[in-house]
Amino acid sequence: MAYRKPSDTEILDAIKDALHRHGTVSSQRKMTELVLKELHRHDTDYAVSEERVRRLALKNDLATVEIHGRDSREKTKAGACPVCGGKTKRLRNQTVYGGTVTFGYKCSSCGYWTGLKHRVPTLYIFAPK
Ligand SMILES: [Zn+2]
Repeated sequence: MAYRKPSDTEILDAIKDALHRHGTVSSQRKMTELVLKELHRHDTDYAVSEERVRRLALKNDLATVEIHGRDSREKTKAGACPVCGGKTKRLRNQTVYGGTVTFGYKCSSCGYWTGLKHRVPTLYIFAPK
């Protein structure tokens, strides 16, 4: 099968239309299906990944995304946000001795947070902004 990649602009329009038509969408898979449905009005060969839809929606501020996650056993590494690719910031607490301890990380663009054990995103809920 020949798949074609839609442009960012086409995906953004499709995300807007899907959210406008359906309101809150309760999973990333559902969101991607709805976006594909919109895209297929223009070209039935279009394909798009769930991650591309999520990242574009967040980057362009089209949706509020509620992130559910579960703790894994892996230690969290500082760096890029696994949800949107933005930068994560250390969350710090003051200790009684006047120092600070890191207790987790938070992304300032999408709101994803994690403790010292890596929190794996399991469910995304999209709401129109
Ligand atoms: Zn993020």
